[in-house]
Amino acid sequence: MTWHTSKIEISRSAYLNNLTFIRTQLPENVKLSSVVKGNAYGHGIKPFVNIALENQINHFSVFSSEEAWQVFEVLGDRQADIMIMGIVPDEALEWVISNEIQFYVFDLGRLTNAIKAAKKVGKPALIHLELETGMNRTGFTEKELSEAVSLIIENDVYLKVLGACTHFAGAESISNYVRIERQKSRYIELCSSLQDRMRNIQFFHACCSAGIMRYPEMVGDLARIGIMQYGFWPSYETFIEYSSDKLIKTDPLKRIISWKTSIMDIKDVKRGEYIGYGSIYLASKDLKIALVPVGYGNGYSRSLSNVGRVLVGEKRIAVIGRVNMNLIAVDITDVPGTQKGDEVVLIGKQGELEISVASFGDASNQINYELLTRLPDKLPRIIVD
Ligand SMILES: *Cc1c(COP(=O)(O)O)cnc(C)c1O
Repeated sequence: MTWHTSKIEISRSAYLNNLTFIRTQLPENVKLSSVVKGNAYGHGIKPFVNIALENQINHFSVFSSEEAWQVFEVLGDRQADIMIMGIVPDEALEWVISNEIQFYVFDLGRLTNAIKAAKKVGKPALIHLELETGMNRTGFTEKELSEAVSLIIENDVYLKVLGACTHFAGAESISNYVRIERQKSRYIELCSSLQDRMRNIQFFHACCSAGIMRYPEMVGDLARIGIMQYGFWPSYETFIEYSSDKLIKTDPLKRIISWKTSIMDIKDVKRGEYIGYGSIYLASKDLKIALVPVGYGNGYSRSLSNVGRVLVGEKRIAVIGRVNMNLIAVDITDVPGTQKGDEVVLIGKQGELEISVASFGDASNQINYELLTRLPDKLPRIIVD
């Protein structure tokens, strides 16, 4: 059933704009991997992968084998590479290998299991060796790497090492500069010792969105781009740095997501009355309010109680009182003529005004990444132009 109380729109033209911008930031021979973990950062794996494919993207990165499966389903008989940067449970290894899905290997246990599964399937596992360079998350240290390489060489029929990679610990912020400089040299060292023993690694990759902007010298052969393809800067700082460097004032990226619903009911509230649960909002004058059918159960954070803003009738108006599980109240006193069924924009544009994800995020103390990925999977996603 598609009787949802709100919907998400995905703009094809905004996506194309972002992709074009990202391509101008990358040398021509660099492969672009579209990072679609977290349900394509809340945009919906299905619509997002479809518009990426329309635009000649043929490499997708995800976190888990479960997400890889979702991308695989969307691909159908269209060709594209899928790369898992995180977890493949042992029970998924055979499916992953038989469907030629690439995956990160970051410890010896995983490597051994990959060899076993590849033997069973009768096809080599396509792996990327993740190197520990200072993020202290997952990855081979120098000593483990040397053991891993020996094991790989012994089992080279069952393993194809496509890549070697790392991830920088917060490339979006200058405050991590020293730490990342150390990671860079560590990465270069590990890669060169790897190349001494293995000659045909195709893809060296280390950069996410912030990485390509701030450490372009580290791009290598493949860039793993998430947040920027959706039209957001990895941090405000990254945008400021770019725009002051290039002397531009306008944002070259365009948000591709909008989130919309419509008014469910309208009410007059007398001065002195409380609105909704508890007593956090007291009407200080006679008000007209509209009830809007989204709440924290639909991805509209409870911390937006009394502070959220939405657009109605091309005006920016306030969320008043608590955000309920499935409902918010907004103040339409100054939007005369508002009727049941009128559009409410939670994220996006209406007329000249816009509710940006950043403002929404600031008000609810979430970063872009968190707010987006919390948008429920079940909301309908509609591709628009
Ligand atoms: C999420 C992720 C990316 C993409 O990061 P963005 O900041 O969204 O571009 C790249 N690499 C790895 C390993 C990731 O986990």
